[in-house]
Amino acid sequence: MTAPRPRVRGPVVDDQTRCIHYSTPLDIIAIEFACCREFYPCHLCHDETADHPAKQWPFADRDRTAVLCGVCGHLLTISVYLLADSCPACASLFNPGCKLHSQYYFRPEPR
Ligand SMILES: [Zn+2]
Ligand SMILES: [Zn+2]
Ligand SMILES: [Zn+2]
Repeated sequence: MTAPRPRVRGPVVDDQTRCIHYSTPLDIIAIEFACCREFYPCHLCHDETADHPAKQWPFADRDRTAVLCGVCGHLLTISVYLLADSCPACASLFNPGCKLHSQYYFRPEPR
């Protein structure tokens, strides 16, 4: 992994991108927001820190590397992340609860 690790904004509490809202052992990802192209640990961090409403990635952008593994710094595409239980690079487990909130970050498949 040679790409520079993106800066993660908001009230981050450790170097694995846990934040004041989500800080269990499994809360290790940060997500890039479509509105500002900045990484935040969660949508609450974005709401409290950014000066604008959050926008979600359109379905056409599922190939964008918008998810950061806070443990190893690996960047996942949205489509890979949505199917993954753990990081493909370091095998750290992701919080399955994050998937319940995916509508805050990614638009669903259009019908
Ligand atoms: Zn934003
Ligand atoms: Zn947060
Ligand atoms: Zn990883």
